Amino acid sequence: MKQEIAFIQRADLKVKPDTASLGFGKYFSDYMFVMDYHTDIGWNDPRIIPYAPLTLDPASMVFHYGQAIFEGLKAYKTADGTIQLFRPEKNMKRLNESCDRLCIPLIDEDFLLHAIKQLIVTEKDWIPDGEGTSLYIRPFIFSTEPYLGVRASKQYQLLVILSPVGAYYGNQLSPVRINVEEHYVRAVIGGVGHVKTAGNYAASLKAQEKAEANGFAQILWLDAKENKYVEEVGSMNIFFKINGEVITPRLNGSILPGVTRDSVIELLKYWNIPVREVKISIEEVFAAYERGELEEAFGSGTAAVISPVGELNWNDQTITINDQNIGQLSQRLYNEMTGIQLGKKEDPFNWTVKVAQV
Ligand SMILES: *Cc1c(COP(=O)(O)O)cnc(C)c1O
Repeated sequence: MKQEIAFIQRADLKVKPDTASLGFGKYFSDYMFVMDYHTDIGWNDPRIIPYAPLTLDPASMVFHYGQAIFEGLKAYKTADGTIQLFRPEKNMKRLNESCDRLCIPLIDEDFLLHAIKQLIVTEKDWIPDGEGTSLYIRPFIFSTEPYLGVRASKQYQLLVILSPVGAYYGNQLSPVRINVEEHYVRAVIGGVGHVKTAGNYAASLKAQEKAEANGFAQILWLDAKENKYVEEVGSMNIFFKINGEVITPRLNGSILPGVTRDSVIELLKYWNIPVREVKISIEEVFAAYERGELEEAFGSGTAAVISPVGELNWNDQTITINDQNIGQLSQRLYNEMTGIQLGKKEDPFNWTVKVAQV
């Protein structure tokens, strides 16, 4: 699709928030990218327009049948003023995998990345430059056809909104307490757990609230069939370092294939640290702890990058990992990943994609 992207200017710009008060996902920039789809004409009318509420027909199919998917990536500003993205082509590809699973028409990955770059250039003043900050990019697609009846919609809207975000855990990584969920499940093989669809999150809220009420920050999900094998954390993939070797659950169709997960595996291989993707039961993790071999556990995801796990609770047993301290490897991975993203470290894999120079 070689379409021009229209631009509609807004009358006045918003006041930008203080870097210190950013948090995550609270503020949105001045403009958004929008594109429409209709079966008769395909994806059309790409435009960058003032950020504003949408008007939708109450019968829009998304409200009733839930065709809604999204992505999440970040733009970074380096010390020399380069604006760059981290492996964005993987997010475009995964968005199309989500499209395919939810019967949403595929998008042109190159065109969407081009549009995202254009939006970022328009909004370059919204990229914060404090330590650990970035501009979070949220592309999403939902069905808009006004129709009651279960089938794929014939109309969709794709939007990209931008949110300046702070460091997820402030200045320092901080180990989190995690509850292993035994009753509720997140995703089943054959279902939609491997794609980023809104419903996966709706389905997780009950267990998340239960965990929070008991003092835990997150949930570790087990497989839906046997309630036995480790899958992932709420919005992160999970890694364990056991007796010098790093293991992570193998992608099985119900686990979300994280870009950060893939990057961690690549980095470990590059460093010659043994890493394996395996089917691992929660029992094995607790047994490794009993043997004194569970050295570290950490989550991986775009938002937090690396999130050390300080405590795991399962079956009324609580184990403390690495004395609630940040593991050496967790810290090294965090430093390396954020270093590459912020242009402070070599990028031997060519993961970063330059958008502009300011
Ligand atoms: C987005 C997401 C992740 C992490 O993926 P990244 O590409 O690393 O950000 C992990 N699990 C779930 C359920 C997710 O939605």
